[in-house]
Amino acid sequence: MAIRQIRINDDPILKKTSRKVEVFDERLDILLDDMKDTLYKAEGCGLAAVQVGVLKRVVLVDVGDGLLELINPEIIEATGEQYEVEGCLSLPGKSGITKRPMCVKVKAQNREGRWCQYKGEGLKARAFCHEIDHLDGHLYTERLAPEEVINQIKLENDID
Ligand code: ZN
Repeated sequence: MAIRQIRINDDPILKKTSRKVEVFDERLDILLDDMKDTLYKAEGCGLAAVQVGVLKRVVLVDVGDGLLELINPEIIEATGEQYEVEGCLSLPGKSGITKRPMCVKVKAQNREGRWCQYKGEGLKARAFCHEIDHLDGHLYTERLAPEEVINQIKLENDID
C-alpha cells in the first residue's frame, strides 16, 4: 500500500497520451493498489494513472457503489446529455459545469486482462468520460470557456 503524489495544475504530464497496457503483471497490480489508496485518501470519484505520473491506460472509478478498475477503457456507446458540476483532483479549487452524455457503455480489461463491459448513468457516466479523457491528455476545463471555470469553490460532488 502506498499513496502516490497527484500531479496538479500545469504539470506537463497531464497533457500527454497514455499507452495501452499490454502486460498484466505484478507491477500493474501494485499500480492499481496504489491508485486505490491515493483515490480514497483524496476522496475523489475517479483517478487516471497519468494523474500519479504513469502514462498507462488505467483508470479507477468509484462513485460510491464500489471500485471499478478499468484497463484500456473505451466508450462504446454514449446517449443523452447532462450538464453538471465537474471538478478534478489535478485542478484543486476549480470546478465548472460541463456537458456530458447521460449514459455510457464502456468496455475495458480487468487486472487479469479479461474484457468486461460497464454501464454508467449520471455521475458514473461523467466519471467514465472524465477519466477516459485523462488518458488522451484532456482536462474537463478544455470543454469550458475560461470565464466558465469557477475558482476557489470546493463542491462536495467533485469528480476527480
Ligand atoms: Zn480529473
